[in-house]
Amino acid sequence: MEGMAEGQAPEVARERCDFIYRRLAPGAAASAVLSLLLSGFLWRSRAPDLIVFWQLLVLALAALLWGLSAAYRRAPAAREQPALWIRRAAFGAAALGAGWGFAAAVFFPGAQDEQVFISFVVALVTAGGLPLFSTVWWVYALYAAGVMLPFNVVLFAHGTDFFRLLGAAVPLLYAANVATAWQLGGVFSTAFGLREAYRRLSGDNAEIQAQLGEQLDSLLDAHREVQAYGRKLSLFSERAPIAVFEVDPRGTILDMNPAAENLFGWASPEMVGRNIITMMLGVEDRAGTEKWWEEFVASARPATRVVENCMRRDGLALACEWTMTPLASEEGQVSSIVLQGRDITQQRASERVRSEFTSTLSHELRTPLTSILGSLSLLRSGALGDVPKEQDEIVEIAERNGQRLLDLINEVLDIEKIESGRLTLEPEPLELGELVRESLRLNQGFADRFHVRLALAAEMRGEVPQVTVRADRKRLMQVMTNLLSNAAKFSPPSGSVEVSVALKDAVVRVGVGDRGPGIPSAFRGRIFGRFAQADSADSRIKGGTGLGLAISKRLVEMMQGRVGFEDREGGGTTFFFELPVMRAGEAAAAEAVRVLITEDDAVAAEYLAMVLEKAGYRVDTVADAAASRTLLGRWKYAAWLLSRRLSDAEDTLGLIAEMRPRLGGTRIIMLAGLRSDQAGVPEPQRHGIVDWLLKNDSRSRIVEAVGQALGRAAPQPGG
Ligand code: ADP
Repeated sequence: MEGMAEGQAPEVARERCDFIYRRLAPGAAASAVLSLLLSGFLWRSRAPDLIVFWQLLVLALAALLWGLSAAYRRAPAAREQPALWIRRAAFGAAALGAGWGFAAAVFFPGAQDEQVFISFVVALVTAGGLPLFSTVWWVYALYAAGVMLPFNVVLFAHGTDFFRLLGAAVPLLYAANVATAWQLGGVFSTAFGLREAYRRLSGDNAEIQAQLGEQLDSLLDAHREVQAYGRKLSLFSERAPIAVFEVDPRGTILDMNPAAENLFGWASPEMVGRNIITMMLGVEDRAGTEKWWEEFVASARPATRVVENCMRRDGLALACEWTMTPLASEEGQVSSIVLQGRDITQQRASERVRSEFTSTLSHELRTPLTSILGSLSLLRSGALGDVPKEQDEIVEIAERNGQRLLDLINEVLDIEKIESGRLTLEPEPLELGELVRESLRLNQGFADRFHVRLALAAEMRGEVPQVTVRADRKRLMQVMTNLLSNAAKFSPPSGSVEVSVALKDAVVRVGVGDRGPGIPSAFRGRIFGRFAQADSADSRIKGGTGLGLAISKRLVEMMQGRVGFEDREGGGTTFFFELPVMRAGEAAAAEAVRVLITEDDAVAAEYLAMVLEKAGYRVDTVADAAASRTLLGRWKYAAWLLSRRLSDAEDTLGLIAEMRPRLGGTRIIMLAGLRSDQAGVPEPQRHGIVDWLLKNDSRSRIVEAVGQALGRAAPQPGG
């Protein structure tokens, strides 16, 4: 309370001051009335001029106090100067007190009953000051002293014992009154504190109420937003053209959208409550699918799965690609799973048609065409007897067109193979200069037809830098042939095509420059696309399929390089490809046996790779099924170490089955996290698994297992 009183000192002082001034005018009026009463009572027994003088004095003092209170009310800054105004009030109070004290002293000597009345008036006036001035105790003390001091002096001066006794009691009364005033002042300040606290409390309360109101408003807004969002979501699912199911972690169907009803022919009420695994996902291998589902739910990570025969109500089997997204709480608890199913039956059918078409092209067209070309060439060779000149010309036309057709078929087959991921490269360390020289030699015959000379660029002075690259010889030759034949085709007659080999940092660039018409700007963006030909009569005349550059680009990219072209100073175009240069050590390592590790546990993968690299293998490491597909499509691996569990939650055995056509002699070793994993695959041989390794097996065990799988001793370290 003390601290509070101090903290509020200016406010309390202001309040006290206000309090005094509010009572000053009524107090002055009461004083005036009482003085008139006293004057009336003493009028006959005391000297009238003295009474008149005193009466005027008291009235003047009352008027002074009244004026003071009026001034206080009117003064604009009065409330800001409580100390000053309290001092002024104290002055007025002391004067009024002294006025009454004067009456007590002057009128006391007289009749006894009058003395009793005067004593009573003195007591009344003293007590009456309390409600007026007690908020500031010392103001009251001054006022009461003004009343009592003269009265007390008179009491002692009067001489009788009774009055002396009374005179001794008066200071006690004074002290008691002042103490009361002091007490009242304290009470005032406490009350002020309480009032202040209450005011603040109710202020806070109002603020809290306002805040609560605001929060309630925003809560309502959020509620409305959530509702709108929910409506939007269900609209999405209702209108989505793909089948959407919501299932619980055990696979029980909770909800499905109209597209799912349409796709599978079951109405939602028929399906809700049934199990998605039995109905859609695991029609063939239920136990296996259930096990996979458990692992998928436990991982709480999205997965995709292609199911070849989801049963439609009418018994037709649909191929579906399922995208499954678990909805998990922040603690990782899966509450439900959303499955989106895309019908890929048509896509499967067209893929089948495409591959059938490709094999038709390859066998039904290429085989007879090759034999036709063989026969024609035999005819022209003269081995079957002389051919008259006109006939020879016709046979030559037939042979050339046959060759064009064969080229076209081969290119279509190539692009098909590349795009379906069925083209595998056989990369080896190659001396690039040698390959370039050979390509010039092999293609000069073709260039001769256009009277064009193929040569190394003049600035190379017949020298080609010694560079080793890691590439598929046959395919790189195909790229060179394409670039050289294009350059020859588009060169002006008797022109020459210049081939350059330039080394820059770790990259080597082979450029084929011609003095042809250049590439029209509108065509530049799509020159490497399939069947892209600049739309000029010229291209048509020169022949070609528009596939050569598309194939070259993809081949070079599969060898970790890139292709491009640039305008040549002085006219024409330079087409180029760039390949990473092999360092000496790398070239040796490349000869080593290649091993692929598919393992999503980075630490385990690094350990295995380190052990096998030390043992002399060339190791590629990937974390998931998607990357495995890419690498298996690109390189031939002697062994594939494959984790039983994959990060993208794909089925490992399914992945092996899928990659089977491309694996050839690749030996598969399964990597297990736990020994129990092994038990989960009852007949490993059936899946082509030749051995099992634990991820933390010893070095010697790992090297031995891989060596045995490959049916030979491990390569020599550092070889
Ligand atoms: P094509 O079998 O038609 O030659 P390419 O993919 O090799 O197929 O080439 C595509 C097209 O790019 C060509 O038809 C031609 O329009 C243009 N082109 C390719 N090389 C050159 C070149 N050196 N100069 C000018 N145009 C070229």
